[in-house]
Amino acid sequence: MNGSTTRRTRQQCIDDVVKGNHILVRRGVLDSYGHISVRSPDDPGRFFLARAMAPATVEAGDIVELDLDGNPVHPESRKLYLERFIHGEIYRARPDVQAVVHSHSPTVIPFGISKVPMRPVCQLCGFIGQGVPLFEIRDAIGDGSDLLIRDGALGKSLAQSLGDKAVCLQRGHGAVTVGGTVAQVVGRSVYLELNARLQMQAITISGGDHDITYLSEAEIETIGAKLGDFERAWEAWCLEEDELA
Ligand SMILES: [Zn+2]
Repeated sequence: MNGSTTRRTRQQCIDDVVKGNHILVRRGVLDSYGHISVRSPDDPGRFFLARAMAPATVEAGDIVELDLDGNPVHPESRKLYLERFIHGEIYRARPDVQAVVHSHSPTVIPFGISKVPMRPVCQLCGFIGQGVPLFEIRDAIGDGSDLLIRDGALGKSLAQSLGDKAVCLQRGHGAVTVGGTVAQVVGRSVYLELNARLQMQAITISGGDHDITYLSEAEIETIGAKLGDFERAWEAWCLEEDELA
């Protein structure tokens, strides 16, 4: 359905982003805030993102084409997401990334404000094993900000913190997840939230994080080579959205 093995058309990319918005809301990753984008299949210097609105209500006509500086490619009078610089600067820094999610994924946030590192607890969360860096906005612009990625400079700092990883936590705010397809970034975002929940449960029943058996380096490597496109989950989630539409 996502057809990651074949090149997506512009319209398919837009449809994927619309579906991605709805799936991420239904799975508790996005609420009335947060966003998902996809790089244009026609121009790597552009991406598709909804206008500023609640993700649950996004339709194809709400998707805006932006350049990497966050400027709309076509004349646009509608309000845009303030934090669109997250997407542009990650696409600029990471040619391998084709889709980006910025969320306030609720169970993930505690890992950005505590000293407990997020680590993969199950096989489908193996991508977390690549590492989960933390973006501390105070390191970029000092104390007293509203924690939002309001401009390109902050977007660049966040992209630097992300580095070559799949996930970066944003202290006191949320997270960014990146992927090679919309299916993959949606899958990673859903399973990031799940991993956070499972890890927290394991910490609770263990009375700390010292006695938990996380995935090993070797397991993470094997999983990374074989799994992780989330195509099967994406197909099921799309079907569910079609049935509920
Ligand atoms: Zn945000």
